[in-house]
Amino acid sequence: MDSHLLPAAIKRLGQNFLIDPNIVRKIVALAELTPTDTVLEIGPGRGILTEALCRATGHVTAIEIDPRLHVYLTERQPRFLNLTLVLDDAMTYPIERLPIGTIVVANLPYYLSTPLLFRLLDLRNRFPRIVLMLQNEVVDRLVSKPGSSDYGVLSVMAQYAAEITKAFRVSAQCFRPRPEIGSAVALLRTKHRRALNEEEEPKFAALVKAAFAHRRKTLVNSLKDQGYEQKLVAATLSSLNLSPTTRAETLSIEQFMELTRRIYGSNFSNLHR
Ligand code: SAM
Repeated sequence: MDSHLLPAAIKRLGQNFLIDPNIVRKIVALAELTPTDTVLEIGPGRGILTEALCRATGHVTAIEIDPRLHVYLTERQPRFLNLTLVLDDAMTYPIERLPIGTIVVANLPYYLSTPLLFRLLDLRNRFPRIVLMLQNEVVDRLVSKPGSSDYGVLSVMAQYAAEITKAFRVSAQCFRPRPEIGSAVALLRTKHRRALNEEEEPKFAALVKAAFAHRRKTLVNSLKDQGYEQKLVAATLSSLNLSPTTRAETLSIEQFMELTRRIYGSNFSNLHR
């Protein structure tokens, strides 16, 4: 590749381009692609991952927001007949129209990694596997378990939707320009069976968010501050054999789900001021 022909990186768009072919190989291997799979790549950039994906699978849709990179990739596209390049914002492009079973592989722009991750998880019925390069600390939060200081809303909500593993760390030297923060690759296998129904899910999400709103407070006080009825929360904790001084970071996902069912099942209309 002639580097002087490449568009310069724009920091605001999270443009830290991979330059290490070994990392590219490891990412593609993690996705377990077959020649008949369909892949969604978010942010193809200069195309290093895109090219490897096109070689490994049936079809690749790559959504890039930067028009300069879109032009650059379009000029190279004739080499890959199985590539659809889209110039758009991945937060608003209708990815829900991609075929069911599409596998997502992306080195995400860090400024948008959490919202994009949640968008993908919201549409998880479509995406059985999601392989993402993220900030190392975000991956640590994604996989952390109760009792850990990294355990919070992101851990509970993501692990509710997917089985997540931290696959490997990636050194800053593998990118140009080098990012200031460490990176890691995560594999998310999305869960097909929904443990909560459509009505319960938003209540679960609201409760988890409220529970972690004040990390230093007990769960009862934290939820009270967010408008939940104190007596009801205390009685529900007791019915689950949990101490009244329980803190959010000690609750498992199953316990958060059970708390949601019991709190909302008992007296939903009185819950919020
Ligand atoms: N995949 C390339 C690689 O590994 O070298 C580039 C990865 S770079 C970290 C992130 C890419 O996402 C950039 O090309 C950036 O322009 C693009 N991007 C940023 N925001 C985007 C958005 N909202 N929708 C689609 N692409 C976006």
